[in-house]
Amino acid sequence: MLQHRHLLGIEGLSKAEITMILDLAELYAAQNRSSQKHSQALAGMTQVNMFFEASTRTQSSFEIAGKRLGADVMNMQMAASSITKGETLIDTAMTLNAMHPDLLVVRHPHSGAVALLAQKVNCAVLNAGDGRHEHPTQALLDALTIRRAKGRLHRLTIAICGDIAHSRVARSNLLLLGKMENRVRLVGPRTLMPSGIGELGVEVTDDMETGLAGADVVMMLRLQKERMDGGFIPSEREYYHRWGLDAAKLAHAKPDAIVMHPGPMNRGVEIDGVLADDINRSVIQEQVEMGVAVRMAAMDLLARGLKAQPEGTMV
Ligand code: ASP
Repeated sequence: MLQHRHLLGIEGLSKAEITMILDLAELYAAQNRSSQKHSQALAGMTQVNMFFEASTRTQSSFEIAGKRLGADVMNMQMAASSITKGETLIDTAMTLNAMHPDLLVVRHPHSGAVALLAQKVNCAVLNAGDGRHEHPTQALLDALTIRRAKGRLHRLTIAICGDIAHSRVARSNLLLLGKMENRVRLVGPRTLMPSGIGELGVEVTDDMETGLAGADVVMMLRLQKERMDGGFIPSEREYYHRWGLDAAKLAHAKPDAIVMHPGPMNRGVEIDGVLADDINRSVIQEQVEMGVAVRMAAMDLLARGLKAQPEGTMV
């Protein structure tokens, strides 16, 4: 069982809790490959997905995960909901709360909005991405993918490359990989590095060759154009030339280095399309597969907590 009522970020998780989620996800990954994909961990429970930002992978992954565990799953159409009529986030949450969901999966464009909402409802809340802040299940699925490919999740050199400044994926990964004692390098243009990055104790470079040298894992990030309000990059062509991952740049990493991307990908901007599809190097499809397993594990563990302490003294 986790020591938390909600899954809001990697920040609050201990190393043991991360390992617990990954170990359970490993069992669900095996189950998902079998013909018997269903179990009853969430039987009788109601899961509501509230996505205030577009999502393909994450929303469908949470939906499949809940259904495989026997929950009743509802997707709120947020664009069509009361939000467009001016209702506040909290009012929407309180309305939903009155319908007694057990699990609320929330994505929101503002950092901190999901944590705020969690304070107002009685159910368990899972953060499916809040602004540039955190995307915990993404970091967990990345960790599981790395652990399966490399046989361990410590003492690896991991290069996270691209638009670090706007990326909740980078932030959650940085926290998780740091906790598990890996060497993390951030690689990208200086304009796309968050301020104060030097204080995080990671290596930072704007040069792909230096950043990728000897890396076990190369994690590429999408240029988050929707979060940019100015000229962060010269042009997409120039960006690809300097920071886009292609075979020549990947040659600086270890010969068995794996290539990751959380999706959605901008082919020909941050990654070469052929490389992204190269099953000998790219684990991008495995990331999607592990996403379902990790979300099953996270919801199962939170549900166990709800059953043990329905009124919830946990935070
Ligand atoms: N899908 C991930 C997220 O929601 C990564 C991305 O959008 O670039 O943060």
